[in-house]
Amino acid sequence: MKEQKTMDICLLGASGSVGESTLKVLRQFPDAFRLHSCSVHSNEDKAKAIIDEFSPQVLVVTSKKAKRTLGTRYKNSKIYYGEEALLDIVSATEVDIVVTAIVGSAGIFPTTKAIESGKKIAIANKETLVTFGPYINGLLQKHPVAMIPVDSEHNALFQLLEDRQGIDTLVLTASGGTFRDLPLEKFKDITLEQALKHPTWSMGPKITIDSAGMVNKGLEVIEAHFLFGFPYEKIEVVIHPESIVHGIVALQDGASLLYASHPDMIFPIAHSLFYPEKVPALLLERKAHTWGALHFRSPEAARYPALPLAYAAGKRSGTAPAIFNAANEEAVSQFIAGNIQFVHIPQLIDASLQGLEISDSPDLQGYLEADQNARQFVADRVKKGML
Ligand code: NDP
Ligand code: MG
Repeated sequence: MKEQKTMDICLLGASGSVGESTLKVLRQFPDAFRLHSCSVHSNEDKAKAIIDEFSPQVLVVTSKKAKRTLGTRYKNSKIYYGEEALLDIVSATEVDIVVTAIVGSAGIFPTTKAIESGKKIAIANKETLVTFGPYINGLLQKHPVAMIPVDSEHNALFQLLEDRQGIDTLVLTASGGTFRDLPLEKFKDITLEQALKHPTWSMGPKITIDSAGMVNKGLEVIEAHFLFGFPYEKIEVVIHPESIVHGIVALQDGASLLYASHPDMIFPIAHSLFYPEKVPALLLERKAHTWGALHFRSPEAARYPALPLAYAAGKRSGTAPAIFNAANEEAVSQFIAGNIQFVHIPQLIDASLQGLEISDSPDLQGYLEADQNARQFVADRVKKGML
């Protein structure tokens, strides 16, 4: 293999679930990648552990409290505070690859700055793509950087689509979440603790709740549209409870190609970091004989009302996907805070899409306003008990 330069990584959201899996890849390939810089929001313990192990040049904290307790310098690493500092680390000259593993649409400014600075991007932060898709795609036309999806389904599709002709439809697989077999009459009693258990993936709390109601798959349908340019009619979802097959491309002749792996984010992360090179070593032992039977079925609309809402928002376009995403982010926070029931989440998304004005071709400010308005709309409704 030809000698590669060690790539400098800027990892946003280093303390989260994707952040942790990314650090695992860096640990496995110390000659290929070095942690130049990273960010955490408030997790001081993880920040300290990362500094001790990886000695990044800069660590950015975005919550005031963590900044106070971490100080400004810790061993060999500088510690900076705030969103401006995120823009500085993603655009630092030394950085080759930016991994965006922040949760929520807060990822927008670092992502745009990374694109404008010509960095290769491994994008996990799907909320940014869903909210600002056309804006990001416009920026990518001006600054054609490589943006590799880390989301497992999209990473699988990205690999299946490479150098291939004659593809008709993209199929995203979905585990169906933790309530895939729960009788519908029990949905009103779902607790936070139950919603935080995922049957196959280990992930952060917000995406785990998103997965339970398939809001996550709705976000992913819109994400796939913006990443690959397929119309919504050509993006399908199939429930696959075992989470072994991550993406399917259906060919024009009626046959399909499938991408399969053990459900571990190490695969899409390593792929996106090494891209366009191939991952040069075994990541996890392939144990196809342990997969057992693989099942596929259609999602029922009554169980997953957020999925048709996502398709409708995607097809409506303009600020509708931003409203879908922000209403969900606020509703999930309200559910975590114990203010609403699980079943209220899709209802609040629906009410936001019905009740808020949708702008057809907004600029960046228009998307940001739509995002803020939807959060406010949901918060107000919850406060007034309009559920
Ligand atoms: P986690 O909740 O585990 O981690 C979120 C990260 O973002 C943490 O580092 C957190 O810091 C940081 N963060 C939280 N709020 C803010 C904020 N306002 N500003 C800056 N940073 C913030 O999430 P996941 O790792 O599960 O998910 C990250 C992203 O990747 C999401 O967009 C998700 O949809 C996507 N994704 C995740 C997958 C997974 O397997 N987990 C799979 C596919 C996509 P702190 O810990 O200090 O609070
Ligand atoms: Mg996914």
